[in-house]
Amino acid sequence: MPTAIELTDLDRRIWEEELEGFVPRRVFDAHSHVYRWAHNLDPAKESGPHAVTGGAFPEADWALLDEADRLLMPGREVHRLVFGFPFSMPCDFEASNRFTADQARRDPASAALMLVHPAMSEQDLEAEVAKHGFLGFKPYRFYSVTGDAVECRITDFLPEHQVRVADRLGLLVMLHLAKRDCAADAENLADLERLTAEYPRVKWVLAHCARSYFAAVIARAGPRLARLGSVWYDTSSVCESDAIRALMDCVGPERVMYGSDDIPVGVLRGKYITFGRAWAYLSQQNHSLNLTHCDPRMTFTRYEQLRAMRQAARGLGLSAAQIEDLFCNTAERLVSSVRRRTGS
Ligand SMILES: [Zn+2]
Repeated sequence: MPTAIELTDLDRRIWEEELEGFVPRRVFDAHSHVYRWAHNLDPAKESGPHAVTGGAFPEADWALLDEADRLLMPGREVHRLVFGFPFSMPCDFEASNRFTADQARRDPASAALMLVHPAMSEQDLEAEVAKHGFLGFKPYRFYSVTGDAVECRITDFLPEHQVRVADRLGLLVMLHLAKRDCAADAENLADLERLTAEYPRVKWVLAHCARSYFAAVIARAGPRLARLGSVWYDTSSVCESDAIRALMDCVGPERVMYGSDDIPVGVLRGKYITFGRAWAYLSQQNHSLNLTHCDPRMTFTRYEQLRAMRQAARGLGLSAAQIEDLFCNTAERLVSSVRRRTGS
């Protein structure tokens, strides 16, 4: 049964007391997914790792994204950078990309990225970009040619011939770093430094605060990341204000953009929590804490993330204009700079 997004009194209270005064009127969501569960071609998918996603939201289309934003951020005008959901193989890339382009076309101020697999050739990528007007690529670590989705390097899942296409056409790359040390990993940092130098026309967005769910990673990698002029960051699904604050401290708030990670993450009930050098998703179905002394319900991941963004913004003393940049203007400027180059 598909899940309907519904607000409880707890959600309403968090929005009204904490978030309504923080989230600006105009929002550009720099990280959101559209998909159909049918794009996952795994015959055993109902018992696979994405079963919760597919079961709850089998048809994640533009209307559902609009509905999520209307409910979770009432009264906001929202535009988006969207891409397909990176289902593990076998995944129907062609149908997913057609669907993504189709959905994004409903809003001329929004833009779409192409879900890419390392086996795709330069010609494949160029043809799809020309056909659908994609502003860039969304590679994913699940598709690593090494077969190791955890410790793979960037070029294992985004081969250099694909980076070359992005450079030639001046496109965006939405990059979810792999490796246990993520952005602080020596090979990831070396690869980012080399790729940004050799392919200066590519604009990189490092998803999930460069996949730094806790502050130590970004604090360590930050000084080197800050020197990379063609790299931006989205805050999607990061729920620790320390991590968001460390990111803004290191690279400057003007390179950081709000992202929801809908559908599904932002509208699931839970929170990414961290301990040691680990991070994990705590949900109402996945915890064994004694909560009899308090309200035990969970709110949307998006609200936990927005709380963390608010704390970080407060701690840094960001102005209203800087908060508008964070939620909208930086992403709009980035997208329109790529649009101008590609003419799409
Ligand atoms: Zn995502």
